[in-house]
Amino acid sequence: MAISPNNPGLLIVLCGPSGVGKSTISRDLAEKYSVSYIVSATTRPKREGDDKGKQYQHISKDEFFRRLEADEFLEYAQNYDDYYGTPKHPALDLLGTGKDILLEIDVQGALQVRFQYPQCLAIFILPPDEPTLLRRLEARGRDSADEIAKRFRAAKREIHMAKGSRTFDYMVINDDLHLAVEEIIKIIKHKRSGGI
Ligand code: ADP
Ligand code: 5GP
Repeated sequence: MAISPNNPGLLIVLCGPSGVGKSTISRDLAEKYSVSYIVSATTRPKREGDDKGKQYQHISKDEFFRRLEADEFLEYAQNYDDYYGTPKHPALDLLGTGKDILLEIDVQGALQVRFQYPQCLAIFILPPDEPTLLRRLEARGRDSADEIAKRFRAAKREIHMAKGSRTFDYMVINDDLHLAVEEIIKIIKHKRSGGI
């Protein structure tokens, strides 16, 4: 099935820099609102601590490029030295059956989804400030110091890009987790009821 404005489900894009709290928000959101979470494929090897963060299907670069050639990704991006992509299925199948789906992706991916599916709801999550983001990247205990430095540099670029782009419908600051999730639920319900 092709992605089409007539698909009854709502495609929600949750975007934001690594460490801002997207997976924490997604998990909390899924307990309070009925949404199907789409698992991304990545060539990034599995790391200790991954079970606490975003779920992935870990695949080889060969497999990733095979799927890319076969047009099996809704969107994809290269981050650092690895590739990340959203599988078209089950995303489009679920949308077609009227389910709201949630993609947890980066700015490059959000731009592609916005282009293909202008009716999507794109939310960018911001940290309260840069030192807090750095503390969260460190607190997660998943990445090496070098990986954290790369993610922190990329985060500053991404926040700058997001603020200067029209891709996102809303910016939500993840300071207090509960308040951020409540705000996102309000935004989704507003969109569901026909609002922007
Ligand atoms: P992302 O999915 O955006 O990379 P995570 O959800 O893995 O980020 O969160 C990174 C770290 O920040 C985790 O240790 C998580 O527990 C913590 N965290 C997330 N949201 C908050 C919050 N509102 N307040 C304090 N810590 C948070
Ligand atoms: P991490 O390796 O820290 O889990 O993720 C690195 C970056 O890749 C994050 O900004 C994350 O949002 C992004 N990412 C994860 N999955 C996808 C995906 O399927 N598509 C895109 N475009 N970005 C993704």
